[in-house]
Amino acid sequence: MPQFATSFTLELPAWLSDELASLPQALPGHEAQMTLVNSLADRNWREGGGGPFAAIVVDQATGELISVGVNVVLGTGISSGHAEVMALGLAQASLGTWDLGAERDLALVVNWRPCVQCYGATMWSGVKHLVVAGDGPELERLTRFDEGPMVADWASQFEARGIEVVQDVCREQALAVYEAYGASTATVYNARGQGAIESD
Ligand SMILES: [Zn+2]
Repeated sequence: MPQFATSFTLELPAWLSDELASLPQALPGHEAQMTLVNSLADRNWREGGGGPFAAIVVDQATGELISVGVNVVLGTGISSGHAEVMALGLAQASLGTWDLGAERDLALVVNWRPCVQCYGATMWSGVKHLVVAGDGPELERLTRFDEGPMVADWASQFEARGIEVVQDVCREQALAVYEAYGASTATVYNARGQGAIESD
């Protein structure tokens, strides 16, 4: 009999779990929210548990911090452990619902346009707002990650489903994180050593 696994766990790295108690309870304004996301993204790759990506779920009106996620692919060995999947799943676990839009008006704040996987994960999560630092080929060029074949009208597809998209929040700050990462020798776990596939 093969040894079939019956579960898997996506868990925040210890350094971030230790930080949670010292994070502010609320972060009003998308710039303050993205500044936290960018600083977590920068620390995350330096700690070695995953790529330079972080995401948070916040209350749209008050900025209340609902969940915090970072990319945990290298630390967990699970390829879907992207920052958005972590932040959305932890928010759902914390609020006890698969639909983050059922009773709350919540925003996902993330340090770039989601990859193809997280595009779907975000769309089905129930969040009503997506706030990104940027969109465009810079991420793939600077980090060599392959973000997959994203549709050109990705933002209007969100809008068509009632999800507001806010772009270019602290864009330069996000690019500085990718630049530092790209200049390092950190592992790019999805590039197969060939670099991103140019799509434009
Ligand atoms: Zn992703």
